[in-house]
Amino acid sequence: MADLLIVGGQVVTAERSFQADVAISGGRIQAIGEDLVATHREAEVLDARGLLVLPGCIDAHTHARLPSNEEPDRFYQDSVAAAFGGTTTFLAFNNPGTGISEEGSRSLLAGMREFRQRTEGESAVDFGLSAVISGLQPDPVAELPALIESGIPTAKAFMVYDFRLTDERLFQALRAMGRHGGMLQVHCENATIIDALVADALAAGQTGCRHHALTRPTYAEAEATHRAIALARAADASVYVVHLSCADALAEVAAAKARGWPVYAETCPHYLALTDHRYEADDEADLIRSVISPPLRSEADRQSLWLGLRAGGLDTIASDHVPDRLSVEKRIPAPPFPQISNGAPGIETLLQVSYTEGVGSGRIGVERLVDVLATTPARLFGLRAKGAVEVARDADLVLFDPNASRTMHQADLHHSSDFTPYEGMTVHGAIRSVLLRGEVIVRDGQFAGRRGHGRFLDRGLGL
Ligand code: MN
Ligand code: MN
Repeated sequence: MADLLIVGGQVVTAERSFQADVAISGGRIQAIGEDLVATHREAEVLDARGLLVLPGCIDAHTHARLPSNEEPDRFYQDSVAAAFGGTTTFLAFNNPGTGISEEGSRSLLAGMREFRQRTEGESAVDFGLSAVISGLQPDPVAELPALIESGIPTAKAFMVYDFRLTDERLFQALRAMGRHGGMLQVHCENATIIDALVADALAAGQTGCRHHALTRPTYAEAEATHRAIALARAADASVYVVHLSCADALAEVAAAKARGWPVYAETCPHYLALTDHRYEADDEADLIRSVISPPLRSEADRQSLWLGLRAGGLDTIASDHVPDRLSVEKRIPAPPFPQISNGAPGIETLLQVSYTEGVGSGRIGVERLVDVLATTPARLFGLRAKGAVEVARDADLVLFDPNASRTMHQADLHHSSDFTPYEGMTVHGAIRSVLLRGEVIVRDGQFAGRRGHGRFLDRGLGL
């Protein structure tokens, strides 16, 4: 007995695309095959003729803000934006300073408890936590085994910023992760190089936004990527490089993969769609919107990242969603560039922008897109019920119209930011309907979900 049938669509997996019906029962995919209507006459039918049936995207890198007294709807709002964007699972970091109390940010386990408490009953899609290991915490490495045991097997560490880890602490964190079946996500940039270049720029009176990019060169990212990989190798651990932005860093990952080391890398839609051309803008608001780290890179870097996605040097695409607003966190006129909040929103545009630049432009096939947006993140982040249109997996599905196109505008988006980096971009394809565990949460472009429908996901990497 199926509850729901998706009829006549083109099912896309990481390996192939084929015409098939999908039967859903109890929130899971019960059957995939031809003419299932004949055997499931009782089920509700969703017509997917002319549409692709994709697995819901898994956005493994977001900084969705927790609800606060002043802004009680922010987490919910970004989860609704995720639903509109075809993302049915997202992972959020509990960054120090982004909603977690002082006490929470000083202990991984206290931070986890606070995250779970404050997000309880909030999300419209499924979600999870990836903890931030900070140099400001007294002894985060000691807490890692308990964190992994509690269903949070991934954490992010930084090699830059004042809350970065020393190399020694980073090595210890990698080793603890490796021994206890977890995986560390690392923000790789060389702090010594960047701090020196920033100091030089400020001493020369170069305080404008474009110096944000000039003081974070690709070789600083590549060096830190190399170092993180070397430390992981010594620690006998896997490592996941977040938001890889350039060819120099990609070469480090590709070299490690060629040696058979368990090194994984993620890139983001903004590095795949935009370039450092943005830092030549005259309009200050345009410049401030592009203050992200690592910065936007050259056109040659952008093309290299697409080759990396195609050839396997890159494993995933995630948004690095930061719901900053020009009117609040970013501020105009801008302060000197080191004081500008880093980040840009992307939780709602992940699939649409990646599809446009990847599949729409003929750089990768839709099967590879599904792989890097859903199937591989599900595997790497311990979400075994997610990530593929496959019998027994959760019926988290996107009905996608490959023949539509539209112009992207902030006014049409639902995220809690007040801008999109893709304003005015022509995007290919359209997300028609989205299902979460068999329930329709976006129907023909209208929100049909509810607050609290999304579950917190306990994860295990099973290593
Ligand atoms: Mn980062
Ligand atoms: Mn980030």
